[in-house]
Amino acid sequence: MQNAANLSYWEHQAFFGPADAVIVGAGLVGLTAALYLRQRRPAWRVVVLERGALPSGASTKNAGFACFGSISELLEQEKRGDLQATVAARWEGLARLRALLGDGALAYEPVGGYELFRRNEGALAAECRAKIDYFNRLLAPVVGHARTFRDASDEAGRFGFRGVGALLKNECEGSLDPGRLVRALLARAWAADVPVLTGCAVTALETTAGGARVRLANGAAIEAGRVLAATNAFAAELLPGLAVVPGRGQVLVTEPRPDVALRGTFHYDRGYAYFRQLPDHRLLLGGGRNLDFAAEETTAPGLTGRVQTYLEGLLREVIVPGPLPRIDYRWSGVMGFGPALAPLIDWVRPGVLAAVRCNGMGVALSAGTGWQAAEQLSGA
Ligand SMILES: Cc1cc2nc3c(=O)[nH]c(=O)nc-3n(C[C@H](O)[C@H](O)[C@H](O)COP(=O)(O)OP(=O)(O)OC[C@H]3O[C@@H](n4cnc5c(N)ncnc54)[C@H](O)[C@@H]3O)c2cc1C
Repeated sequence: MQNAANLSYWEHQAFFGPADAVIVGAGLVGLTAALYLRQRRPAWRVVVLERGALPSGASTKNAGFACFGSISELLEQEKRGDLQATVAARWEGLARLRALLGDGALAYEPVGGYELFRRNEGALAAECRAKIDYFNRLLAPVVGHARTFRDASDEAGRFGFRGVGALLKNECEGSLDPGRLVRALLARAWAADVPVLTGCAVTALETTAGGARVRLANGAAIEAGRVLAATNAFAAELLPGLAVVPGRGQVLVTEPRPDVALRGTFHYDRGYAYFRQLPDHRLLLGGGRNLDFAAEETTAPGLTGRVQTYLEGLLREVIVPGPLPRIDYRWSGVMGFGPALAPLIDWVRPGVLAAVRCNGMGVALSAGTGWQAAEQLSGA
């Protein structure tokens, strides 16, 4: 990042001058908020500041499931509050994102989702199967389908899985391409005259009489009418005490496997593991955070032998039984979790709104969160 001492007059004027709104974080929430804010306030000067060369939290690291909950996840989440409202926020968020960019830009495909249960998980499978009618009734007014879920155990053989005793299908789930999604958002932001400045780490947010001052690592400072902190898992770095707990997720992608045909998105182990086949036939597999919650409660990128061994075992024992496919990519990303399932969207300091904590379903929740953040920013 350029040192502030060497910024030209033109750079000060065009990029670091006073702004009506500064958005910190160019993930899905920050970028969707920027676009909705531009719609609401066409004349405002809005700038997005991103620490990484690319957005570097979760938005380009995720699995691209356009999901709103498998039955075993919903069973758990129902204990934490109003499940219908939770699913509605996810479903409407997905609709909002698709409407904002168009399905082509996201590579969105309504592939349907499956939840797998191994033979030794008969009790959980039976519990979930028994809830199919209940969840179908609960979700029908939200998703507009009478039968969101159905028992698809007879399809297990078709996929070639080993040791899978039951398979439940979610007819309304889809997949998308997170890279194309973020690229489309970045292009739309620049086209809407919202600069997205990468390599711009924010070090402090200070309250001022006119709103807030945003201090950058290069020594520059931007005077802002209001600030949106869309920094998700990293939120507590700028806003100490905010109830956001990081959770790292590890992912791998294999060599292309044209001999395998897995159309759909697949969930396993109560949503803690997930896989899908990519358009170039590679298999993407992620998860395993629950093997060691303490180790994965970190914002640091990294892979662990424990999680990678688990993922490889799942691949070779269940998904594509046989020798381990070559692994061509491995990475980690970090999510933000908290006590509630709903994202945190709140004025946490005078002039500073936070919109964070989309947990593991930010693809679905981000556009609604960005929209609500923009509404609050534009009204302030
Ligand atoms: C491995 C993995 C798999 C996932 N799979 C799915 C899935 O299939 N479906 C789904 O719905 N969700 C999934 N998620 C969750 C989803 O990706 C997130 O909920 C969502 O991307 C969160 O978006 P965000 O904008 O809130 O945060 P982020 O994308 O994390 O964006 C925050 C941004 O803020 C920037 N930042 C932080 N601090 C600063 C600072 N001081 N200065 C400047 N910039 C800063 C970061 O660099 C980052 O780019 C997954 C997440 C992971 C990690």
